[in-house]
Amino acid sequence: MAHVQTVLGPVDPADLGRVLPHEHLISLVPGPWLSGGTVDDPVEVAVSALAGIGRLGFGTVVDLSPYGVVGRDAQGHSLGLLQEIARRAGVHIVAGASVYLEPYSPQWALEADLDTMHARFVADATEGVGDSGVRVGILGEQATGLDEITAHEEKCLRAAARAARDTGLALNTHTTHGTMALEQVAILREEGMDLTRVVIGHMDIHPDLTYVKQVLDTGVSVAFDTIGKQFWDFVLAPIPPDPPEGEFEKRAYYRSDGSRARGLAQLVADGYADRILLSLDMTGAEVYLNGTTHGQSGYSYLGQTFVPMARELGVSDEALEQMLAVNPARLLTLS
Ligand SMILES: [Zn+2]
Repeated sequence: MAHVQTVLGPVDPADLGRVLPHEHLISLVPGPWLSGGTVDDPVEVAVSALAGIGRLGFGTVVDLSPYGVVGRDAQGHSLGLLQEIARRAGVHIVAGASVYLEPYSPQWALEADLDTMHARFVADATEGVGDSGVRVGILGEQATGLDEITAHEEKCLRAAARAARDTGLALNTHTTHGTMALEQVAILREEGMDLTRVVIGHMDIHPDLTYVKQVLDTGVSVAFDTIGKQFWDFVLAPIPPDPPEGEFEKRAYYRSDGSRARGLAQLVADGYADRILLSLDMTGAEVYLNGTTHGQSGYSYLGQTFVPMARELGVSDEALEQMLAVNPARLLTLS
């Protein structure tokens, strides 16, 4: 039977509603817009943050947190928290499995060879992650770096592609600011992956729409998945647990939602609506930089503010439903 693998078990793909396909539900603290700054329980904050999405037609959130970052512990034990959020918020949650950028990867993943990594991803999908008993319903966000793919990142991407091939799961990547997307596709193609099961992530951050179209023309889907994250700081190396006094190397970025919406409208006009996904990639750590978007509306920002903005630019209701509901449901459906 066709189904979607959620953290609470299989559900009918027709029951998903609109989907937020790239989020991190356990990393919303600090999230002062939700609690007045008084609540620091991550489950509590996530449940409040999800409260408004139902009336906007959203029924499903995909948590693509990699091992050891944005709320996922290195072994995946924290998946029980996603079950609790799903029950309390009354939304479907699908969990992903992945290894993030090399500097943030847990030691076991750095040490694992390709076969071990591949077996681990398959086990996450078929037996459950760690001791949580929770089976993942997608692979990702599988990450590569800014203008480079390290040997470790290539190993993990190949392992995820092999696991996707074995299990039928879709694979969602993380590009750093849209770079190395074509190189990711080349690796996935080498692994014999069905490119209609691939989503290349964070392509709304790449400033050149011609490049985004080149990526789409390979047959993959792309994600405009950082909507509302107009300002962000990019730390060039992870901050160590006991950091020395002094300065850190950072870059500050700005991508306006106006330019995201114009790029999206152009791609839809060019006929790509059946291979675009929309999400926020919201984390509490960046909310303070984006007070007028995520800070004001949380998860409601996409449906409440960005969707009307896209409609204003000529994106039809049909195309919007395609991107918000039909495309993610197709990718999450397993036979
Ligand atoms: Zn993300």
